[in-house]
Amino acid sequence: EREMEDASEAQVCGRGVEGRVWKKEVVMVSRPQGMPVEANFEVRRSELVFQVPPPPGFLLVKVLWLSVDPYLREIMNEDNGLTVIPPFQIGQPIFVGSISKVLASSDPKFKEGNIVQTMSPVADYALISSEFFSIYKIEHTHAINVPLNQYLGVLGFPGLTAWVGLNVITQLQANEEVFISAAAGAVGLLAGQLAKLKGCRVVGSAGTDEKVRMLKEVYQFDEAFNYKTEKDLNSTLKRYFPSGFDVYFENVGGNTLEAALENIRRKGRIIACGMISQYNKEYKERDGVRNLMHVIGKSLKMEGFMVGDYRHMRDDFIKEVGKLLQQGRISYHMDILGRGIDEFTKAFVGLLGGKNIGKAVLLIDDGENHETLL
Ligand code: NAP
Repeated sequence: EREMEDASEAQVCGRGVEGRVWKKEVVMVSRPQGMPVEANFEVRRSELVFQVPPPPGFLLVKVLWLSVDPYLREIMNEDNGLTVIPPFQIGQPIFVGSISKVLASSDPKFKEGNIVQTMSPVADYALISSEFFSIYKIEHTHAINVPLNQYLGVLGFPGLTAWVGLNVITQLQANEEVFISAAAGAVGLLAGQLAKLKGCRVVGSAGTDEKVRMLKEVYQFDEAFNYKTEKDLNSTLKRYFPSGFDVYFENVGGNTLEAALENIRRKGRIIACGMISQYNKEYKERDGVRNLMHVIGKSLKMEGFMVGDYRHMRDDFIKEVGKLLQQGRISYHMDILGRGIDEFTKAFVGLLGGKNIGKAVLLIDDGENHETLL
């Protein structure tokens, strides 16, 4: 079988030939109830037959890195809150953010060997559209020499989410006080550091003592606490913000949102980014937010957003955050939660259970030194 794989890959280099490659792909075979389990997914092995060059508008790619994200769990539910993203269907492949290498292209914009950031199935090889609205060639346009997988993290959509949340949605000002939940995750880790660079006081919550320690010692947070070992989040927030806070970067929902609503100041702003504490629950059995009335009484502004709507800001974001990375003014962590297609479920469950610090990714192939761009 291995020989067949090698032989088929070699053919990709030719032109005007039919190529074949064995691929592995993850398919959702049942909808998770609660935390996903192995039985919800199947790894299917099949032969991918392709032409070199591929049909117009397609690229044959070898997948290098896959992004493992909380929203995937939400769109595995038939009824979900992300109405603009259609739910995954049973029997269909799971699609995620990816970094891939182009093996063959019929589109002059992409050449063999180019590295692309796009969406692809959880698979090791794929035929993907070169005309997809969210496909980016990763180049040296900003002279940033960072590990390639950072384009799924600090320089990818999680990073853009943090940047848009603070700069566009809430227009954070110097000296404001900010509370960030899921602070040690992909979005939170950058949000906290960007808020610090703006001159804010920043407190984060996370689910382990080790995350709390890292937030304070490595990632510049003023304070952090472990929400799992606090008895009453309302009084915890009072302890860290005796006179309240101005901005809440909301990543988790549920009782953390309730505690935040109790403690946020009058005219405070809530960046409604995510509610991960609810994704594993049936839509109709989710926690209500009992004190939502504070939105009125305290004249709060709560604004949700989908990062995809801010794609046009990607270049500005990469320039700014790339520079901060290069200058060493921010740091970031990529967390490889699995290796190979077979470990998708392990990585996904790991993410939902809080195993990751920074951005959770699945490593598919780094055997050809795709680590850095230069
Ligand atoms: P992440 O924070 O890297 O990973 C998720 C983290 O959530 C886990 O590590 C875990 O850390 C925490 N968590 C899991 N279950 C929890 C629970 N019941 N209560 C509290 N925390 C829990 O993920 P991310 O990619 O940065 O995403 C963070 C949030 O932003 C998610 O809600 C996501 O859906 C949202 N998001 C929104 C957009 C948008 O366009 N609006 C874009 C990207 C992400 P702990 O150890 O701290 O529990």
